[in-house]
Amino acid sequence: MGTNHKPSAEERLQQWIKPELLEASAYHVPDADGFIKLDAMENPYLLPDELRDKMLDVITGAEINRYPDPDASKLKQSLREIMDIPEDMAIILGNGSDELIQIIALAVAHSGKTIMAPQPGFVMYKIIADTIGARFIGVDLNRDDFSLDSEAMLSAINQYQPAVVFLAYPNNPTGNLFDENTISEIINAAPGLVVLDEAYSSFSEKSFMQRLGAFDNLLVMRTLSKSGLAGLRLGILIGPALWLDQLDKLRLPYNINTLSQKLAELILSRYDILQQQAAIIRSNRSKLFKQLQGIEGVSPWHSSANFILFKMTNTSADVISAALIEQGILIKNVSGDFPALKDCLRVTVGTVDENEAFIAALELAVSS
Ligand SMILES: *Cc1c(COP(=O)(O)O)cnc(C)c1O
Repeated sequence: MGTNHKPSAEERLQQWIKPELLEASAYHVPDADGFIKLDAMENPYLLPDELRDKMLDVITGAEINRYPDPDASKLKQSLREIMDIPEDMAIILGNGSDELIQIIALAVAHSGKTIMAPQPGFVMYKIIADTIGARFIGVDLNRDDFSLDSEAMLSAINQYQPAVVFLAYPNNPTGNLFDENTISEIINAAPGLVVLDEAYSSFSEKSFMQRLGAFDNLLVMRTLSKSGLAGLRLGILIGPALWLDQLDKLRLPYNINTLSQKLAELILSRYDILQQQAAIIRSNRSKLFKQLQGIEGVSPWHSSANFILFKMTNTSADVISAALIEQGILIKNVSGDFPALKDCLRVTVGTVDENEAFIAALELAVSS
């Protein structure tokens, strides 16, 4: 038996691809060509021309025949200064913070281990847990304001003994900051790592960075994606060397390419520009929030990030989302992601013009 049965391609796949991977779902990115793109929390502003000219010089001068600096030491040094990273803390850079989430998950979790996060939350925590066969436990946030349900979190931590708890601060897709004391309680109660994912810290101006070291199981994660450099792919993990030396063994050598390193060094030398853009986005956010509040049947939540979550109270979110696409506006329909987000949509804060176009399209969609 078996010697002369040639398996079909499908049978071979089923035999060799790991079952947890066959079962996992992929992260879907819609085609955004030609749309006003307000779905992915990108910074809508370009860099000034003088800086873009210097970028050209950096590209021309880059020795791309050589491997990049494996430690990206210059870039790390400028990040240390800009982000006020405590001197005694170590840094690992990732090709986006998504890569760092994967590194953390691979380091501590596998089948039989638990990765935990509040929900509704960032979907990559679960997607990555699924691909490595770890158990993902999502703990429901309070229904009204998406605050942490501290009792539920502490009891889930006690029950499942998670290898790692991810807390997005502010949370995506809800936009709120969790209570600091509850976070501290969670860090104290967690048997393993707790990662504060501060992807949106430029818009919240709140951070646990200075509390690193006060807890020996706390790591802080940042990214440059939401503050204007999504295309460079740079995530930053900060924490005690004790943990990071182990995690770093999973990082592939040269994971941050030469162009990303050099361009980020240049752009971060003018970090004030990114900070100014973040300030403009924060002010656009208040204006957009008020406009959303003014539309009948639309109920937005306050946000400390560069996006706003809102609920359609009289219409289905699917209908509104389709009507916006029809008008060339792409936002994120999160209605099907979690039961608590039924009929909810998430819009990224864009330029003043983009936000105006979105509001006009939404008003039209609601009235027809
Ligand atoms: C966008 C986002 C990330 C991923 O960012 P990249 O650095 O672009 O991979 C991580 N965590 C949260 C909460 C996010 O919203």
